[in-house]
Amino acid sequence: MKTSNPPTEAAAGVPAEARPSNFLRDIIAEDFKNKTYGDAVIQTRFPPEPNGYLHIGHAKAICLDFVLADEFGGKTNLRFDDTNPEKEETEYVESIKDDVRWLGFEWDGLYYASDYFDQLYQWALKLIKDGKAYVDDLSADQIREYRGTLTEPGRNSPYRERSVEENLDLFERMRAGEFPDGSRVLRAKIDMASPNLNLRDPVMYRILHAEHHRTGAKWCIYPMYDYAHGQSDSIERVTHSMCTLEFADHQPLYRWYIEQLGIFPSHQYEFDRLNITYTLLSKRKLLQLVRDGHVSGWDDPRMPTISGIRRRGYTPEAIRNFVTQAGVSRTDGITDFAMLEHFVRDDLNRRAPRVMAVLNPLKLVIDNYPEGQTEDCDAVNNPEDPAAGTRKVPFSRVLYIEQDDFREDPPKGYFRLSPGREVRLRYGYFVKCTEVRKNANGEVVEVHCTYDPATRGGNAPDGRKVKATIHWVSAAHAIDAEVRLYDKLFTKPNPGQVEEGEDFTANLNPLSLEVVAEAKLEPSLASAPVGARYQFERLGYFCVDPDSAPGKPVFNRTVALKDTWAKIEKKAG
Ligand code: ATP
Ligand code: MG
Repeated sequence: MKTSNPPTEAAAGVPAEARPSNFLRDIIAEDFKNKTYGDAVIQTRFPPEPNGYLHIGHAKAICLDFVLADEFGGKTNLRFDDTNPEKEETEYVESIKDDVRWLGFEWDGLYYASDYFDQLYQWALKLIKDGKAYVDDLSADQIREYRGTLTEPGRNSPYRERSVEENLDLFERMRAGEFPDGSRVLRAKIDMASPNLNLRDPVMYRILHAEHHRTGAKWCIYPMYDYAHGQSDSIERVTHSMCTLEFADHQPLYRWYIEQLGIFPSHQYEFDRLNITYTLLSKRKLLQLVRDGHVSGWDDPRMPTISGIRRRGYTPEAIRNFVTQAGVSRTDGITDFAMLEHFVRDDLNRRAPRVMAVLNPLKLVIDNYPEGQTEDCDAVNNPEDPAAGTRKVPFSRVLYIEQDDFREDPPKGYFRLSPGREVRLRYGYFVKCTEVRKNANGEVVEVHCTYDPATRGGNAPDGRKVKATIHWVSAAHAIDAEVRLYDKLFTKPNPGQVEEGEDFTANLNPLSLEVVAEAKLEPSLASAPVGARYQFERLGYFCVDPDSAPGKPVFNRTVALKDTWAKIEKKAG
């Protein structure tokens, strides 16, 4: 694998002892040491089904596949599991490639399960010839009925003992398109009494007269996931085939096919799915949100898709750190959404330039500042990164401040601006409120102040202190912007938990998007490129949305500043 930028703790030189324990790494390390696979390199694969956009759960699988192979000098393929022609689209293939690359990974081989349809067909013929597969004429309902239950064994199909010749003939005719959809299947002949339902003569092939996004009309029979997956792994000489726990019951079948065919012994290992509070990680449900218009698309910044969180302003580094720290285990758990936000803040804090922006503007007029005068204040771009330097921010007589930063009747403990009170304007001067102007409704529309010219830069030569520093933007220089403030998409920690008769959309948060139509930004943001990320001082991290037009930027709030996870961790520690 090649990583396009230093992504992982391993690559960043974090010693193994400092990383969270990872039983998959331990298994691979053992196999590497013992040369379990001889001279074969450690080989993994990421096998998405192209039936939707990737989500942050997939990011966990991607990181495991790419990072662990890389640690042992191995390789990782991207392989599309395109065995289901009806739900798959090229749009999804392209988005998946973009998303894997955005996360910072470059695959070694790019494959499709459909590349192997010929080989899989040949292997099916072999299993038939060996008496290990048969054509069944039972309907899907009958097959289900004959399969039995967890407590009752299944029954053999009346077609189970067909001769090899008859099976070969029927299977070839299935392929040739002689039979309608659903009329016959090819099944593996294993054991209808097995306690594992997956071993009760699983279906290998079904008839489906459907166009495939890559093979077109060539096939009218398609392999089932279980038959395609392990064999595809084996063809690619995948040593460690890692997938989520719901496939654990399929592992015996994975092994059975490989053993019967006597092919490269790929092994499957299962780990826990990533689950996050207030978040749905299921392509099917995410597709429903898109189709029913609950969100603006797969890349709506409220979506947990990779394209959504990218548009939201999350960084690939933050995602990789988050999934690494969330860890892997053999039992399913749930990770706090606050932890994800913590890693996003942690990364943005290091890299995002600071700027001043006012979301809910209130006019502040400095009566003793000369009319028509402008001066430049020096502002620090990033206190975390001295190399980021400084910039000039224009200051003048009329400014905007946040409505929240002024109270006519300040409650106890409120130290920001109020009548008679002096505060610091960030990088500017001390100002003292002298007068409040209201509209006919009695709402404050303007506050008047005087400034102290001796406090330029933010300190008083006489040593007097102020208790608050507030941000501001010069009214004459400000640029207008739309700012989109996001909250959680769901109101419940478990969005799937619903009353009878409801579905998860009942838990959608009606306040998940608030649009500020006329925010005021410092002029340095006029030409901020799409995707650029900033900290709006005292407000949070924001990122330029692709909906921006020249002179009218649109910003997404990536995450607010307050960090509840840090507090949770502190308490726990
Ligand atoms: P979904 O349930 O969202 O539709 P899926 O499992 O059907 O996901 P695939 O395209 O089959 O999606 O998944 C590709 C790989 O990603 C699989 O190996 C799967 O185990 C893994 N994966 C999917 N969801 C998660 C998750 N939440 N956490 C970790 N890995 C996941
Ligand atoms: Mg799947």
